[in-house]
Amino acid sequence: MSDELLARCEGAARTYGSGPTATVALQPTDCAVAPGARLALVGPSGSGKTTLLHLLAGLDEPSLGTVSWPAIGARDALRPGPVAVIFQGPSLLPPLTVAENVALPLVLAGATDADAHATALEALSLVDLDDVADKLPEEISGGQAQRAAAARALAGRPRLILADEPTGQLDRVAGAGVVDVLLAAADRAGAGLVVSTHDPTVAERLPDVWQLHGGRLVAEEASWSR
Ligand code: ADP
Ligand code: MG
Repeated sequence: MSDELLARCEGAARTYGSGPTATVALQPTDCAVAPGARLALVGPSGSGKTTLLHLLAGLDEPSLGTVSWPAIGARDALRPGPVAVIFQGPSLLPPLTVAENVALPLVLAGATDADAHATALEALSLVDLDDVADKLPEEISGGQAQRAAAARALAGRPRLILADEPTGQLDRVAGAGVVDVLLAAADRAGAGLVVSTHDPTVAERLPDVWQLHGGRLVAEEASWSR
């Protein structure tokens, strides 16, 4: 049923700039993220992965067409709360401890400091980061930082988790650990998961794949098969 879809693009396109220097980052696209989705968004650098992910997150608006969240609600109801975004690269706030970073969106959403801290510690425990809860971001590894970003996403009990190249700056082992955590977070929250990546070893961990090329969604395969 279409009203169960977590996110849906209908003819959604995005052009940056205007006139002769305009860049068409995403051609008109029809796609839908169903409940329980475990989806890899793959394609070379510049193919439009971040653009599509940001549209699905409601962080950006299409230049043409529409994006909607039938099972969730209007764009202003997405964050903080039902839609969690894990950005490419470092996203923890440097002056806050790891636990404070994870707790912050909960506090912004109205939780008390004590409740937010308790939930943050629980989420950090799930991603095996209990022992770095009181450290600053600069004191932990890149892999730990991406796992902390996943914990921050998980703590809000999202319906949809969108991760943009979450393993892009990590080695294979740390990257695999982040994918483990994202899959576990999505299972635990009962959330849909979309992970953009150009790493085939990440993509093959996810059962479905969308392939982007030059801003065009060229293939939606039911299963990852090679
Ligand atoms: P990917 O995430 O697959 O690397 P992006 O979605 O970031 O691709 O970019 C798609 C295209 O849009 C690229 O050609 C990129 O240079 C361009 N682009 C992305 N963001 C902007 C922006 N803010 N302003 C102008 N062009 C942009
Ligand atoms: Mg990108």
